[in-house]
Amino acid sequence: MDRIRNIGFIAHIDAGKTTVTERVLFFSGRTYKIGNVDQGTTVMDWMAQERERGITITAAATTCEWKDHRINIIDTPGHVDFTAEVERSLRILDGGVVVFDAVAGVQPQSETVWRQADRYHVPRICFINKMDRVGASFERTVDMIAHRFKANPVAVQLPVGQEDAFNGVVDLLEETALMFPENGNGNYVPTEAPVPQEMLEDVRNYRERLVEKVAETDEILMNKYLEEKPITTEEIRAALRRATIKNTLIPVLCGSALRNKGVQAMIDAICYYLPSPLDVPPVKGILSKTGEEVGMEASEAAPFSALAFKVMTDPHVGRLVYLRVYSGQVKTGTSVYNSTKGVRERMGRVLSMHANRREEAEVVSAGNIAAAVGLKNTFTGDTICIENMPVVLESIRFPEPVVSVAIEPKTKIDQEKLIDSLIKLSEEDPTFRIKVDDETGQTIMSGMGELHLEVLVERLRREFQVGANIGRPKVSYRETITRPARAEGRFVRQTGGHGQYGHVWLEVSPLERNQGVKFENRIVGAAIPREYIPAVEKGVIEALETGILAGFPTIDIKVSLVDGSFHPVDSSEMAFKMAGSFGVKEAIKRAAPVLLEPIMEIEVVTPGDFLGEVLSDLGGRRSRIRTLEGQETVQTVRTYVPLAETFGYVTSLRSLTQGRASQSMEFDHYEEVPQGVAQELVKELR
Ligand code: GDP
Repeated sequence: MDRIRNIGFIAHIDAGKTTVTERVLFFSGRTYKIGNVDQGTTVMDWMAQERERGITITAAATTCEWKDHRINIIDTPGHVDFTAEVERSLRILDGGVVVFDAVAGVQPQSETVWRQADRYHVPRICFINKMDRVGASFERTVDMIAHRFKANPVAVQLPVGQEDAFNGVVDLLEETALMFPENGNGNYVPTEAPVPQEMLEDVRNYRERLVEKVAETDEILMNKYLEEKPITTEEIRAALRRATIKNTLIPVLCGSALRNKGVQAMIDAICYYLPSPLDVPPVKGILSKTGEEVGMEASEAAPFSALAFKVMTDPHVGRLVYLRVYSGQVKTGTSVYNSTKGVRERMGRVLSMHANRREEAEVVSAGNIAAAVGLKNTFTGDTICIENMPVVLESIRFPEPVVSVAIEPKTKIDQEKLIDSLIKLSEEDPTFRIKVDDETGQTIMSGMGELHLEVLVERLRREFQVGANIGRPKVSYRETITRPARAEGRFVRQTGGHGQYGHVWLEVSPLERNQGVKFENRIVGAAIPREYIPAVEKGVIEALETGILAGFPTIDIKVSLVDGSFHPVDSSEMAFKMAGSFGVKEAIKRAAPVLLEPIMEIEVVTPGDFLGEVLSDLGGRRSRIRTLEGQETVQTVRTYVPLAETFGYVTSLRSLTQGRASQSMEFDHYEEVPQGVAQELVKELR
């Protein structure tokens, strides 16, 4: 297991992630032909649409072998509109290779992904790609990594030449060079060589700096260093590995994936410095039987546990569930247990994936990634384990969708396939939901942004051959309260025969954002018999689903049942449920309810000449500028904009800046709708 690496390539779009992945697969002997992004033939981006859009939106996984190591590559999307995809891949990988463009350096949007990786404590190395481009600079990019991310990068290589003249890398630990002379037919064969004469001094200085930095993280090494005792390359490498895994140092390498330079050394570095499943803390889980928290040991001998991190429908084998096995092992054809759902499942076949090619495996064991066929009731985030020791692993958190549109089939034939196809897509993507509106009969799809929904409609057309039209996007508003209040709920019918009697007193109070709904029973004594309390709760929760202002779910509210009364004959669960429902609605009325709207974080990168237009356009969209950074001729604006004001923004930005600005958008939080706007809205929505 110490030879396994579960890694992802993390990068800003266009830094060269796809090309790097391609080359890794090629040099490790897994593909026979080098794919080319620009001609749309890469192995990882195998969805037709991804090729066209040039962005990676599925977290597929692939495997390759390198010098006795098995490297599982989990595909991470570079586009922040697909946050859920990024989060889920970061959750299950053990280490990352962050790819930079040597010309652009640290791009503003790379910071988002870097911060996400920090949050999941993902140890990483950096690969500064595109060293062959005009304007490439290794040193500047290393500096940017240090300053922008406040990280501690350490160069383990130096480029030999830059731009056109880039033709090798010096390994600072070994003090040797790897040169890439052309072999006559356009290929570059890596060839070991002594460090070029003119670089000797630089190499000495950089190596000294490297040793010093590593020694700072390691006491034994530090003592040796201070006593000026000899330190071996192996000792430095081992200490650098420990520091990388602890996230205190970040080794930096360079190359040009497109020109096949420096890729092999980068794969070596993955093996040298990134953690194996044994080097990361055991994943936490809760034992279903006792509720006790346990760490699942990464060992084949331990009880089997795995996390489903991706569900995909494959045209040939059907429903595929991607698993990260954390402990124990599992054989094909055996029975397993989905502890999240509480159902038994069968591991039909187990496949190890190479993008869209697959190989059958008989067993998968701890530390590995595989795709399983036959798990019918397993969804993203579920735990699979053995039945006699059920455990639920820490799952992946997904945000609730913030935007929805009505979708209609184009033809009668489309109609039949539409719902089925939508269900399949929503199984793959936990931030995509569908429902049928009770009143209008319309099919509504909800997701994380306009682009997210557009991509899904595209996929419907391409993969499922379903034509559909979509309506105008609608914002998923929420409602909440702004002060505590108290109210009574009565449901009493006592006209002859068997009557109804339910009576409660409820208190509501606002909670911080993101706290959802909490219900508590604060009745002391026997004002209401215990058996009716769950009915009150049910009535309250159901009532909160349609808010009193405009019918949106009420969130971030605590509801306490404080008093009430009952009738020995006429009281029933139904009566208490109704009383709960009436009571909470009345209490909310008295608690100054407000409308909440999703706020997106938008980042616009524009040539300085267009800054004025960009800012004035944003000004008309109720935006709140957070930062404005200028860097030579390029300006980066980071701002909060209400989702309602973002529809069509991409098109409008394009025309304002002649297509020269780029933007990314991500849901950030919910916020109160300003009063004036809210009044108009409520009128419109009602
Ligand atoms: P991704 O969006 O991060 O997956 O990036 P791609 O791999 O699709 O690469 C984006 C563009 O950069 C493509 O046009 C590649 O051919 C180009 N590219 C990738 N690596 C290099 C490199 O090392 N040098 C140069 N000059 N171009 C590169």
